[in-house]
Amino acid sequence: MAQIGEKLNKEFNDQVREELESAYIYLAMSAWFAERTLDNLAAWFSKQADEEFQHAMKFVNYIIETGGSVKYETLKEPKRDYENILEIVETAYKHEKYITKRIYHLYEVAQDEKELSAIPLLLWFLEEQVEEEDQTAALIDKYKGYRNDFNFDHHVKRTD
Ligand code: MG
Repeated sequence: MAQIGEKLNKEFNDQVREELESAYIYLAMSAWFAERTLDNLAAWFSKQADEEFQHAMKFVNYIIETGGSVKYETLKEPKRDYENILEIVETAYKHEKYITKRIYHLYEVAQDEKELSAIPLLLWFLEEQVEEEDQTAALIDKYKGYRNDFNFDHHVKRTD
């Protein structure tokens, strides 16, 4: 019975907004770095924004495949007046922890509504969140180790 119910459809539309807002937040962070010629960090956060866009599309595809209705909600303007790099990496980590909580919530709703077809998608996201939290936590640790902004930037190269 892979037909999305009204409740999960609404929750998934909310999550599409959350993922797109994540992309927006990371784009603003990327711009902050690019403006200061911290180019690897700018690239790191730009890549992160791409991934968030892909996350949003995974929810969109599920809604469509299960006969639901996609609603793109208004996005919040992202913060741009960061004081320093530490504030940015800590904000990114906190944000990923918040997204993990959201995915837990969606999992619970899918279970309560007996929409078991949605479970594999949500399990994929739970696994993804382990990686997202780990990556952003690692940025904080690395930053604390380097102290110098340009040294840090030099060591933040993504291979994926
Ligand atoms: Mg995401």
